[in-house]
Amino acid sequence: MKVVAVLLAGGSGSRFGGKKQFFKIKGEPIFQYSVNTVNKIDVISEIILVLPPQDLDRVKVFSFKKVSKVAGGKERQFSVYNALKNIDSCDVVVIHDTARPFATEEMFLQGIENIKKGWDGSITAYKSRDTVKEVEGDKVIQTLNRERLYIVQTPQTFVFPKLLEAHNRAKEDGVIGTDDSFLMERLGYRITVNEGSPLNIKITTREDLQLANCIAKLT
Ligand code: C5P
Repeated sequence: MKVVAVLLAGGSGSRFGGKKQFFKIKGEPIFQYSVNTVNKIDVISEIILVLPPQDLDRVKVFSFKKVSKVAGGKERQFSVYNALKNIDSCDVVVIHDTARPFATEEMFLQGIENIKKGWDGSITAYKSRDTVKEVEGDKVIQTLNRERLYIVQTPQTFVFPKLLEAHNRAKEDGVIGTDDSFLMERLGYRITVNEGSPLNIKITTREDLQLANCIAKLT
């Protein structure tokens, strides 16, 4: 079984005010954390690292495993699509946002295990600890059943040809999703959940970077 990891570092950091993937935590660029984690996972044979087109030549990556650099697109979904089109053949693909430097080996491994069990996809997620409500304007519309709500993260693991089909279909239909799982769900593919963690934060704002520095001190 050939497993490829797509590591996304192609964002422009518009909400952050700079390309956060190149900021350093404990002396290492944020994107490198995900490369290091994947390097520890034997079953993953190679890495596709998606970078902003203008940074492709400049960025140095340290990896024992083969790394191919691919130019990102305007939206995250297009960045994933560019990476998928650069894969000759593989069985399983793991998509991960390098803006989440604290994803664990276990999250990757559990996702791959779930595919081996026959699922079409597996997403890293944990049960919401907060109550979530739908609000329209300034009026609360409804309270959602917390027992059924999960906070979704990456890595997300998929059967490669099925994810490629889902992206092709999304392109044809002009659909943009906030994650890859959504593109599979809309075709009726069966997706399960592997254990996520509140520590697996996505660095989006400057505040998140401060939080990330605190988490890094714990590890
Ligand atoms: O912008 P956001 O934090 O939601 O991005 C999630 C991940 O997707 C980040 O790791 C970012 O580098 C990546 N991304 C990308 N190409 C884009 C936009 C985001 O690879 N066009």
